Amino acid sequence: MSSENTPLIRIKDMSKSYQMGEVIVHALNGVTLDVNPNEVTVILGPSGCGKTTLLNQIGGIDSPTRGTIWVDGREIQGMNQKQLTDYRQESIGFVFQFFNLIPNLTARENVEFVLEYVMDLPTREVHKRAEDLLEKVGLKGREDHYPFQLSGGEQQRVSIARALSKDPKILLADEPTGELDYTTGKMILSLLVSIANEGRGVLIVTHNKELAKIANKVLFLKDGVIVKEVINERPIPVSELEW
Ligand code: ADP
Ligand code: MG
Repeated sequence: MSSENTPLIRIKDMSKSYQMGEVIVHALNGVTLDVNPNEVTVILGPSGCGKTTLLNQIGGIDSPTRGTIWVDGREIQGMNQKQLTDYRQESIGFVFQFFNLIPNLTARENVEFVLEYVMDLPTREVHKRAEDLLEKVGLKGREDHYPFQLSGGEQQRVSIARALSKDPKILLADEPTGELDYTTGKMILSLLVSIANEGRGVLIVTHNKELAKIANKVLFLKDGVIVKEVINERPIPVSELEW
């Protein structure tokens, strides 16, 4: 699976249930979907419909009760512990609603941390890459600020730089604009679209209907089931979003 149109993520009939005492919660129920390179895919659904659960299965943080997930042609379920660790660290970048930065590290250190500890790169290369990534997300000059000295949008930029540090083919974003005002949210979305345009697959899960307009593909999730799929032949530019 290497041609340009091959999906980066392919999920077939995947379900996830949680046993809660006597009760079984069916968080996902027979989900089938593809995420393609060069595209933004949005999964839209209300709170509790299974969005985060879905990202956790793709990210290899949790494992499905049933069904199969292929990422970049590899089946996640077939991986041993070492392969799974490498997969989580190298193939996938995560962006979260609440940024999840390390509060006592600067913007630069939050990005370098991953490069040093996960990738084991030489110091000079670590500095250079962190600087390039922070410039790419528009934070040149803010490298030495701590998270509390940065606005929400700036913190989200740091978290995107951190997610890109491993140069993953796939970026998963869980309500990435949930904590941002709309101007700032739009800036973050522009950044996510440009990241998809670099040949990556960007998967955003959200309850915000406006985000669906910028997507190449929208999947509507309800009670753990994809109830509708819409392909946007012409997604609207982020600058024209209103919400
Ligand atoms: P969303 O992100 O769309 O708000 P979630 O994926 O977090 O929804 O949750 C979907 C459903 O699965 C909810 O009913 C939630 O309570 C349940 N759920 C999620 N994670 C767990 C878990 N670890 N244990 C038990 N139930 C869970
Ligand atoms: Mg969630």
